[in-house]
Amino acid sequence: MITSFPLLEHLSLGGRMLQEAIKLSSQSLKEIRFNDCMKLVEAEVDTPNLQSFKYSGKTIPRLYLNSVADYRTAEFSALLEDMDSLWFTRLYNFLRDFKFQDLTIEMCSIPGREIFFNAEDSIGKQFPHFEFNNMKLGMLMFGTTSINYASLLDGLFWNLRPRILSFKLSLIPKILKGLLKCLVAEGPNCYCSQNLDCWRHSLKGIKLINVKGLESNTVLNAMTLNNLTNYLDDWVIEVKKGLLEKNFPVNSLSLELSWC
Ligand SMILES: [Zn+2]
Repeated sequence: MITSFPLLEHLSLGGRMLQEAIKLSSQSLKEIRFNDCMKLVEAEVDTPNLQSFKYSGKTIPRLYLNSVADYRTAEFSALLEDMDSLWFTRLYNFLRDFKFQDLTIEMCSIPGREIFFNAEDSIGKQFPHFEFNNMKLGMLMFGTTSINYASLLDGLFWNLRPRILSFKLSLIPKILKGLLKCLVAEGPNCYCSQNLDCWRHSLKGIKLINVKGLESNTVLNAMTLNNLTNYLDDWVIEVKKGLLEKNFPVNSLSLELSWC
């Protein structure tokens, strides 16, 4: 039916209506969104002008994309419990194959369900790293849950090397602090092998970008993290108020990561 809408720019598909495999071709589409596609195992999207690709669902299907747009963003939403090795592998393949430079991951945490990624399962399944510009993280939380930050970071950085890592400040401060603390932690969970350095040992430095009250380019480590967390709560409250205002400029905490 898509040929009947030659001017269509934003398309959202979802639910059980979708078949296992879909093929879609459009010159005009700029944004496509797949929501909760239960049966989808393969999607081929021939959309040269596509700028924004969004996907949410239990598993990531095999995705083929033809887009030559200069600037392309990808957004994947998932429950933490569904983020297993295959999920991260499919994500990596998609970003690398179609050269995305901008990725947003919206995670959702449900009480009693942990992230599925287990680094032990991925040892030996290391691929070349994919370097890209920006990884932005958001998290929705239902009830009180504990998050295995180490596993989450292992999954995120196993094969992905973003230059900028951003956290949405809609994250609750406890999670934001948990992630930051785990990010700067020294020592734990090293997976270096004979030929490959693990992400912790490839991560050479972290700097803060545009953090109110702290100098830009401040190195983030266990010590400066203390200064940061001291006023992070206030900042998050300020941002939450600010989000209600239009065009509030800073709604994320950004870090510059350098990798070797
Ligand atoms: Zn290591």
